[in-house]
Amino acid sequence: MITAYVGLGANLGDLRRTLETALADLADVRGVQIDGVSSAWRSAPVDSDGPDYLNAVARVRTDLPPLTLLAALQAIEARHGRERPYRNAPRTLDLDLLLYGDQTVDLDRLVVPHPRLHLRAFVLRPLLELNPALDAPDLGALADFLPATADQVLQRDAQPLRLPHPDA
Ligand code: ADP
Ligand code: MG
Repeated sequence: MITAYVGLGANLGDLRRTLETALADLADVRGVQIDGVSSAWRSAPVDSDGPDYLNAVARVRTDLPPLTLLAALQAIEARHGRERPYRNAPRTLDLDLLLYGDQTVDLDRLVVPHPRLHLRAFVLRPLLELNPALDAPDLGALADFLPATADQVLQRDAQPLRLPHPDA
């Protein structure tokens, strides 16, 4: 089993409900178990427009190969009616494979670690919530990248995301 981290983001519709439904969908994927979920973090869009984002990170244990896991994430995105009218358009749900154990992947369809994860407070803060000592291949200690993102305004939601019940 591999420990992987999945980034979840929403900025259209009922954001909290979208993230909670996506977590339930993720938990339903065969070969994926949710091992922890960060707080929900609210932020203004970075390279995108539209309303605020709500972001979170899930730690999963999986025996799926990385491209199979990516396909499962894309199927969940599609089920949430995501459309891509133009690059970086607002979207109902964005799921990114941030880390896959200590492995690197460098394909057209999949780059792991996610190329921008160390630049984005809305990814770093929830990742470090789940594991303050988290290391990433090629990057090292992720906590070292936090100071450079200090100008990114981010608000932690006091209300935890509701986790799908394990037997639900
Ligand atoms: P963003 O970079 O903002 O998440 P998109 O979600 O629209 O942008 O990008 C989706 C594309 O990125 C997909 O075609 C997918 O194959 C590719 N991709 C490359 N690496 C990853 C990754 N680590 N996680 C998710 N998608 C990835
Ligand atoms: Mg994406």
